[in-house]
This record gives sequence, C-alpha cells and structure tokens, in this order.
Amino acid sequence: MSADIHSLVGAYVLDAVDDLERAAVERHLRECDECRVEVGEWRETASRLADGAWSVPPPGLRDSVLAAVATTRQVPVVVAQRPSRRPHRSRWMAAAAAVVAAAGTGTAVFVVQEQRVRDERTVAETARDQEAEVRGVLAAPDVVLRDQVLADGGKVTVAYSRLRDSG
Ligand SMILES: [Zn+2]
Repeated sequence: MSADIHSLVGAYVLDAVDDLERAAVERHLRECDECRVEVGEWRETASRLADGAWSVPPPGLRDSVLAAVATTRQVPVVVAQRPSRRPHRSRWMAAAAAVVAAAGTGTAVFVVQEQRVRDERTVAETARDQEAEVRGVLAAPDVVLRDQVLADGGKVTVAYSRLRDSG
C-alpha cells in the first residue's frame, strides 16, 4: 500500500483500489476534511466523464494523445512532505497519475478531460480577475464616467480611474 494515503483518493473514487486500500482510505476520510472535499471533486469529475458527450472521442485521438505523452516531461510524484498546504496540487497530480494508471484504455480520454477541467478553471479565473478589475475601477475614488450615444442608437459608457491607471 502507498505510504501516502492522500494519493489514493482519486483511485478510491473510481473504485480502483483493493480492499485494504479502500478500508484505509475510508478510515482516513473520517479524519481528513481536505480529502473529503477532494472525494467530492473527484466524484464530480468522474460523473462528467461518464456523461455520454465524452464517451466517443474522435478517431485517432488516443494515438495522438499517447504519442504526445511519450514526448512530454511528466510531473514528478511528490510523496511525503506534508504539513504545508502547497502540496495539495501535487497530491492532485499524484492522484491523477494513480487514476490514469488504473484507467488503462480510458487513459487518453481522461488526460484530455483533465486538460478540459484545467482550461475551464483558467477561463473562470480570468473572468473573475477581469470582473474584479472592473469593480475596482468603478469603486475608485477618482472614477470618471463618460457616456457616448452611438449613431445606430446604442450607448457606450466608459469608466476610468487615473489612480488605478485603468479603464
Ligand atoms: Zn487526507
């Protein structure tokens, strides 16, 4: 059994652990909030994977992904080194690696799905940053608003702040 119980969480969700590991993970889940949250996230991802929309990858995808995997540097699996909160991400990667190893022929689809989830997260983060920037400008003490009626009937409002050097 792995020395790092946390890395088994992904495999546990996909029922890719043996009885001893399952018992160990379930015992661990009773005392680790972080891993319980992770189980929820993995279940969500797994249920999205089970969605019919993802079950039929285009022909050749598996070969091209596996070819890319062969020439792509892999993320090292970090074992031990706990207390800090940072390793959370690498535990995710370790768990992802465990799931990929367990998934066998489903590997290519899973790798693509992982990338999709990461991309969506990046898009969401970018949108959040932009919204925060807009709110910051609107809340700035020196915010200036300018309205302009367009020839076709529309209206544009520009807000800018010298203090924030942004608009
Ligand atoms: Zn844990």
